[in-house]
Parts: sequence; structure tokens; C-alpha cells
Amino acid sequence: MTSELRFDNRVVIVSGAGGGLGKAYSLFFASRGAKVVVNDLGSGLKGEGSSSSAADIVVDEIKKAGGQAVADYHNVLEGDKIVETAIKAFGRVDVIINNAGILRDKSFKSMTDKDWDDVLNVHLRGAYLITKAAWPFMRKQKFGRVVMTSSAAGIYGNFGQANYAAAKQALVGLSNSLAQEGAKYGITSNAIAPLAASRMTATVMPPEILEALKPELIAPLVAYLTHESTTQSGGLFEIGAGKITAHRWEATEGVVFKADDSFTPAAVKARFDEIDNFDRKGLFYPTSMKDTDWLGKLELAKGLS
Ligand code: NAD
Repeated sequence: MTSELRFDNRVVIVSGAGGGLGKAYSLFFASRGAKVVVNDLGSGLKGEGSSSSAADIVVDEIKKAGGQAVADYHNVLEGDKIVETAIKAFGRVDVIINNAGILRDKSFKSMTDKDWDDVLNVHLRGAYLITKAAWPFMRKQKFGRVVMTSSAAGIYGNFGQANYAAAKQALVGLSNSLAQEGAKYGITSNAIAPLAASRMTATVMPPEILEALKPELIAPLVAYLTHESTTQSGGLFEIGAGKITAHRWEATEGVVFKADDSFTPAAVKARFDEIDNFDRKGLFYPTSMKDTDWLGKLELAKGLS
């Protein structure tokens, strides 16, 4: 059996931790020795209302089990105040789990600006603000672990979730950039796309499936990715019901056109099947902008003309 990964003396902020996945993470981290900031403004599924009780209940549960935690009731749009709670209570911040979220599902036709802004704000701007406030502390201590909560909807798109999908894909880009900027400071960032039973999924899945999708089944990956011994960064992982998959980009070999008047829409049309052909050899798996070697291709195009 592998030895238990512990988080003694580590300070973990979990946003939206009053229920669902965030609660499961908080209980797990605390059970492994972490000091946890349990953030939740206690809103409804669509972001309406607020109550301190959601975070308080989780903190009470942690304390009763002998763990250490503090409740924080700020909106993630006050990310600096959440980080301040961590610093005031525990003197540092090591791990951020950007997890808070709301839904405003509507077809794109019916989506209002407010539906768009509210969802983008909580998921994307909230994650940005908390991470931004913690960044100087992490850089200074040369250690930090960040998890962004994406979603299958963000990876693939989903009917009725244009706002949510946009935010969730944006979090992957944010995570990948932070992975690059954080590397020399010992800061990692990864994105997860979880699937779990919570109030978010309660109405869209049958009970027998929800039974298999326990939120506790997401915590082992989140804890692994944020442990001090883990150097993995810039990853995207789908996880649910005990299965984890890793994701990466795949690009076709591509077609290089002559950079002259022959490069027309009709020329693209004539070779589009080749451009879009994922079946033949030459596929590659870029992990950074450098890997696409775009300038090399420009040189090649010049050479052809
Ligand atoms: P949930 O509704 O149970 O939890 C979200 C929590 O965020 C709630 O407790 C809510 O009060 C809190 N919250 C909302 N707005 C907030 C704000 N402005 N500031 C602070 N807290 C706020 O849902 P969940 O299923 O546990 O979702 C957790 C995360 O996982 C979300 O980001 C969600 O989009 C993502 N996700 C979940 C699933 C799933 O299958 N459950 C799938 C993909 C992604």
C-alpha cells in the first residue's frame, strides 16, 4: 500500500465549500492534517441569497473530528478577503481549490447579459481574484498548488450552457498559463472536470447514477494534485465515479500552402479533408505554443512560394 499523502502545516482555501464537492474536499484535506479555509457565501444554485450556515456546518464537522478550519463567508468576487482570512487565521496559504460555482442554464437565444456575466463572474473572475491575491504569497514562499474546476461542458460545449462552458474552458487556459508562470516559483496549476452528485446534478440525472457519483470520489485526485510531492502542472483531468482520465491536445500534421495568390478559399477547400484528417500518421500532441512550430511552417511556406 502506498503511504498516505498528508497536508500537515499546509493551509488550503476551498471556495464554495459549504456543500457538494467543496465540502468533500474540505473534510478530506482536514482529515489529512491541513488547516482549511471553508469559503461559501451560502447562495442558492443560481447564485441567489446568502447564508453563513453552509460554511459553519462544514467547519463544525471538521472541528468535531479534531481538525482545523475557519469559515469564510465572502463572495469569491472578494477573493482578496478570502486570502486575508487564510493569512489572519493561519499565517499562510499553500493550496487553492477554485470550486465555487453557479448555473444559469438557458439556450443561447434566451440568455441575458446578466446570465452571462453572473456565471462568468463567479467561475472565472472569482478564480482569478482568489488566485491573484494568493499569488504573491505563493511566489515568496516558493510553493503553491492551484486547482481550477472546469467541466465536461467547458471541454466539449453543452446545449444550454454557453455561459458556463465559456467560463469552464477559460479556466483551463488560465490554469495552463499559471502553470507556466508559476513553474520557477514551485507553483503548479491543474484543471479538473469532475462529475459528481450534488445539487447541481440532482435534477439532471437519475438517482441510481447519482448514487455512484459520490463527491468524495473526486477528492483523491484533488489532494494528489495539490500535495507537496506532486510536480504535475498544466494538466486537465476528467474524473467521476472513481475513474480518472488525462486530456491533451491533438493536432493533425497539417497542410502547408504556398504563400502566394494560389492560397485561396478554393485551395483550402480542395485540401480540407487533409487538414482535418486525424486518421493518418503525422498527428502530434502540442503541450505549449512552442510545440506547434508555427514559425518553422512559415519558413516552409516561404520556401514553397
Ligand atoms: P454546489 O452547488 O453543491 O456547490 C457550489 C458551491 O459554491 C455552493 O455551496 C455555493 O453556495 C457556492 N458558491 C456559489 N457562488 C459563490 C460565490 N460567489 N462565492 C462563494 N461561494 C459561492 O455544486 P458542485 O456540484 O459541488 O460544484 C462544485 C464545482 O464543480 C462548480 O464549479 C461546478 O461548476 C463544478 N462541476 C461540478 C460538476 C458536477 O457533476 N457536480 C460537473 C462539472 C463541474
